[in-house]
Amino acid sequence: MIQYKTREEIEIMRHSCLMVGKAHAEAAKILKPGITTMAVNNIVETYILDNGGKLSFKNYNGFPYATCISMNAAVVHGFPGEQILIEGDVISLDIGVFKNGFHGDSAYTYAIGEVGEEIMQLLRVTKASLYAGIQKARQGNRIGDIANAIQEYTEKKHGYGVVRELVGHGVGRNMHEDPQVPNYGKKGTGAKLKAGMVLAIEPMINLGVKEVVHLEDGWTVLTKDGKVSAHFEHDVCITKSVPDILSSFVEIEAAEQANPNLTWSYGAISPQEAQVPKISAT
Ligand code: MG
Ligand code: MG
Repeated sequence: MIQYKTREEIEIMRHSCLMVGKAHAEAAKILKPGITTMAVNNIVETYILDNGGKLSFKNYNGFPYATCISMNAAVVHGFPGEQILIEGDVISLDIGVFKNGFHGDSAYTYAIGEVGEEIMQLLRVTKASLYAGIQKARQGNRIGDIANAIQEYTEKKHGYGVVRELVGHGVGRNMHEDPQVPNYGKKGTGAKLKAGMVLAIEPMINLGVKEVVHLEDGWTVLTKDGKVSAHFEHDVCITKSVPDILSSFVEIEAAEQANPNLTWSYGAISPQEAQVPKISAT
């Protein structure tokens, strides 16, 4: 059942979503070759707990950590650990915060040091596809309109693999609510979008084939062909007018650009091409 949020609930939820972006930015400041993924996880965990948040992911269905850290061919749900970041790595970081009864859930993919143009293009296109999907997150449209926009941009236009087994979702008092938000589908199909819905829209896009395999740890999802995957996620509220993005990449992108050990993932795609929507008041 879809849980519609009141305006008051949206404003409470916005705090959780914005805290996720701030936690990301703390990680983006320290990302560099030579540190472990557990060090990244610990920075995020400490930031959330120090700011009165709870860890949405830790112990969720038994997931053992505060963050999902998925390196290179890992798509999502990777474990932080003793793996050391090296130049050329792609690290996808997914963070959840629970505060005042609501979850925020947002993911971002970072490029460590010099990363080849083919992979940087995957990052830029995946991020742009998120905004292409968000553009369709409007009252009266359907889930399939979001899904189709993401698929058209990534698979049809750029030839990437769109993961089928994992999808976006409603988010609110529970981290995963109805409806599911796939990154592939037909226009005009699926649940109708209505003001008060909050959707975690999260393209998971592979450089190569769309197929994935599961690691024996029971969580980590990897691309079947071992090629790199990218993941960007925003929490978006449907309003009576334009989409209201509750999470934010502003601080993440500032930290990413300021960190000489990262390659900025915006690059050649302009905000116009990415169709970045204006953030509205609800
Ligand atoms: Mg997430
Ligand atoms: Mg999510």
